[in-house]
This record gives sequence, C-alpha cells and structure tokens, in this order.
Amino acid sequence: MPGTEPVNKILDHGQLQLLDFMGSDLDVVNAAKVSFSAYSTEMNDASIGLINFLMKNKHATPFEHCVFKFYVKSPIFVAREWFRHRWSSFNEMSMRYHVPQELHFYFPSPENIRTQVGKPGNYSFEPISDPEVISHCLETLQSSYEVSNAFYRVLLEKGVAKEIARSVLPVGQYTEFIWTVNARSLINFISLRNESNAQYEIQQYAEVVENIFAEKMPYTHQAFVQAGREAI
Ligand SMILES: Cc1cc2nc3c(=O)[nH]c(=O)nc-3n(C[C@H](O)[C@H](O)[C@H](O)COP(=O)(O)OP(=O)(O)OC[C@H]3O[C@@H](n4cnc5c(N)ncnc54)[C@H](O)[C@@H]3O)c2cc1C
Repeated sequence: MPGTEPVNKILDHGQLQLLDFMGSDLDVVNAAKVSFSAYSTEMNDASIGLINFLMKNKHATPFEHCVFKFYVKSPIFVAREWFRHRWSSFNEMSMRYHVPQELHFYFPSPENIRTQVGKPGNYSFEPISDPEVISHCLETLQSSYEVSNAFYRVLLEKGVAKEIARSVLPVGQYTEFIWTVNARSLINFISLRNESNAQYEIQQYAEVVENIFAEKMPYTHQAFVQAGREAI
C-alpha cells in the first residue's frame, strides 16, 4: 500500500501502516475552545490541562475531529473482531472479485499455541508445554490450509464463481482492509483491544495502533492513560 509511514510487521504475515492522519492535540483543544469563540495557536500547560479535563469528564466530542486512516493485513478472525467497532469505516479486499495469487495463512508461533484454563467469564490462557501437542497443532493447520487452498483452486478451475469457491477457505486466511477512525473511537478500540482480556492476535495490532496514536497525539494519549485507559 503506498504511504510514507513505516509498515509495521505483525504476527507472521500481518501488516499495519498509517496512511493518513488529520489533527493534533491542538485540534482537540480548539474544538473545545470554540464553545467560547476562542482558540490557541500552541500547546501550553493550560491546553494540556484542558485535554486532561475533557478526558477525565468524558467530554468526548472534541476528540472526534482527529482522524486516522490505516492499511491493515490480518487473519480473517482478527478482522471480524475489528469490524465490530462500528464507529469507524472499513473497506476490505473482496474475494468475490479478486483471486490472490498467493494466499497467506496464520500460523501461531509455538509459544502462542495456548490452552484455555477456567470457565467463560473467568478464564485465562496458558502456553501449552507438551511439544507433541504443539507439533500436532502446527501440522494440522498446515494440512488444513493446504487442502483448503487446493480445493479453492480446483473449484475456480472448474468454473465455479469466486464468491462460491471462497467458501472452503478458513478464518486463518489473511485479508486486507482500510480502516478510518476518529480519535474518540480509536480510544474505545485500544481500551478494549490493547487489554489483557482481548485475544492475543488482535492485541498485537492494537498495541501498534496505540503507539501510533501516542506519537501523533501525545498529550491526548497521556490523558487517556492517566484517566485509567477508559473509553470516552
Ligand atoms: C474481550 C472481548 C470479548 C468479546 N466477545 C464478544 C462475543 O463473544 N460476541 C460478540 O458478538 N462480540 C464480542 N465482543 C465485541 C463487543 O461486544 C463489541 O462489539 C466490540 O468490542 C465493539 O465495541 P463497541 O460497541 O464499544 O464499539 P463501536 O461499535 O465502535 O461503538 C462505540 C460506542 O458507540 C456506542 N454505540 C455504538 N452502536 C450503538 C448502538 N447500536 N446502540 C447504542 N450505542 C451504540 C456505544 O457507546 C459504543 O461503546 C467482544 C469484545 C471484547 C473486547
């Protein structure tokens, strides 16, 4: 994807790149100050205090004027979790129209092949220590991906439409999408997804999103952290 910002590599084939950004901490300040028909030309202690006040008291709309646009390549199961964040815009690669030359599939690293301990609502994930189970898991993924990919290609060769042939592909397949989100909704996303309850794989992306947010809007990010990392 063309863009001047660095491409962040995530998981085994994933990517995340900031394509565009509109706004700054000062834009948050001035969106709030328009209430009094006033504006600031630079950040100072009073503007930092105002951002902290807005965050703490959940006066959220001034944060909506800053907007991030990202390119993301992730496994489909990560994208499905991501697309639940309705307060943002998405466009995704279409497997109705496009047949990727090469399909990429997600293989967890051996230390991330985990087991669930506890009950729903009160469980944690722990690494599997048995090397046989780890090998079995990786081999199963490998054969399942190979078979799905082969079936997909055969169906296409026989003239089955792309939109039907794709049915055999698994959620471990990588997809690509563009995500545009304002800072308020991005805060909601990182409060939920860069968090220990979120699935490890989406957390890896949310961590990178948070780093980019902190770089572009350092005072707003600081206020978010100081206010307890809560959605606003
Ligand atoms: C750890 C974890 C586990 C999850 N498990 C499941 C699961 O098992 N099944 C499942 O389906 N989802 C699950 N989700 C997804 C979750 O329910 C949300 O859909 C997702 O996190 C998006 O959050 P959101 O609605 O706050 O974001 P957005 O859709 O971006 O909405 C932002 C905010 O806008 C407001 N809003 C948006 N739409 C409405 C509306 N229709 N009515 C009123 N207010 C609205 C709310 O204040 C909301 O917080 C899980 C999420 C997490 C983090």
